[in-house]
Amino acid sequence: MNVFKFGGASVNSAEGVQNFYKIVQSYKEESLIVVSAMGKTTNALEQIVDHFFHKENDLVQKQFEEVKAYHFEIVEVLSFNNKAGSIEKIENLFNELNTYLQKPASLNYEFEYDQIVAYGELISTTIISEYLREKGVKNKWIDIRRYLKTNDNFGEAKVDWELSRKLIPTAFTFNDTFIYLTQGFIGGTTSNLTTTLGREGSDYTAAILANILDAEEVSILKDVPGIMNADPKWIPDAKQLKRISYQEAIELAFFGAKVIHPKTIQPIREKNIPMFVRSFIDFNKQGTMVSNAPIEKSVKMPIFIQKKNQILISIRPKNYSFVIEENLCSIFEIIAKHKPKVNLTQNSAISFSLCIDNSKNIDSLIKEFKIDYEVRYNNKLELITIRHYDDDSIKQMTEGRNTLLEQKSRDTAQYVLECNS
Ligand code: ASP
Ligand code: MG
Repeated sequence: MNVFKFGGASVNSAEGVQNFYKIVQSYKEESLIVVSAMGKTTNALEQIVDHFFHKENDLVQKQFEEVKAYHFEIVEVLSFNNKAGSIEKIENLFNELNTYLQKPASLNYEFEYDQIVAYGELISTTIISEYLREKGVKNKWIDIRRYLKTNDNFGEAKVDWELSRKLIPTAFTFNDTFIYLTQGFIGGTTSNLTTTLGREGSDYTAAILANILDAEEVSILKDVPGIMNADPKWIPDAKQLKRISYQEAIELAFFGAKVIHPKTIQPIREKNIPMFVRSFIDFNKQGTMVSNAPIEKSVKMPIFIQKKNQILISIRPKNYSFVIEENLCSIFEIIAKHKPKVNLTQNSAISFSLCIDNSKNIDSLIKEFKIDYEVRYNNKLELITIRHYDDDSIKQMTEGRNTLLEQKSRDTAQYVLECNS
């Protein structure tokens, strides 16, 4: 059995769904297909949550209608024959969501978020499953919330592995179908409240299901041919990596490469399941294989990762005490309290620097540092990470640019740079 994950971009239009059908109908083995919400639906639903929570009913209604219209335009082009009531099934989901949005919101934002945003995946999988069935591709739609169980940490729920291990095999038996279709990104608590696993969590769902069901392979279908040595939108002549190790994939995700969700690797590595990142346009090309295979040459080419909108904060104890001996613990306590996304740290005898993502909490972090430290900071910076660097790749990234901080380990060089523009 193989697991496939189709992301939102692969099913963002009727042509996308038709392409999905072509791939699936040519594939003759047992498969479990995990699908995200169509296109940018999750972002749109996030805005609805915001308006819902702030009681902006008109905006809720307006955006709800937009999301509905977007999906029904796709349904229209797919021209369902509706013999088995496909349209009603899709409409029912929108009605359910609309009914929910008419009620007053509770006081728990994350809870409301999960109840609402999950409809993106419920709707996309319903449309696709119905379309496949009408086209003669037998498949079974599974509501994953009944089987993938999580705690109630809404917005970023943790998987209850023990319970999920018991329940998931009961849903995907392959007794009466070759193809299962289910939602990525969402789960359910033991009391059947809907949860989500964190943004872009569908890859992670695919990995969880592969682990529990002992899949032979996982394929993540993308709009790029595989994992590239840089984001092609940034470096147009980026090259594809043929094979990388699980460890390399985790490092890349950690440093900010957006191709795979950071949590995805652990469940497949545990069962030694190979993962292919490949194109949904050129489905038959192998893409990038992620496995425990020995790191061969291709991975030794430099890999570039860019993180924009960075802030570099440098602090120095007002009393000139040593950072390591006397201050490290309190510095990290302050960091833990304000939870910035820390991408790099460095210290000297009496100074400490951290490069973080720009976000709302920065002001309070700086304010607290200012009590015992002299604080300097720069914003609008860029953090560039080069895995497997060499002289040329460093030159390519840093030449003619103002470097505020650099750090090198055996495999990785990182530069905090002023932006050119
Ligand atoms: N639809 C969700 C999101 O956009 C999950 C995913 O795409 O993986 O975050
Ligand atoms: Mg998505």
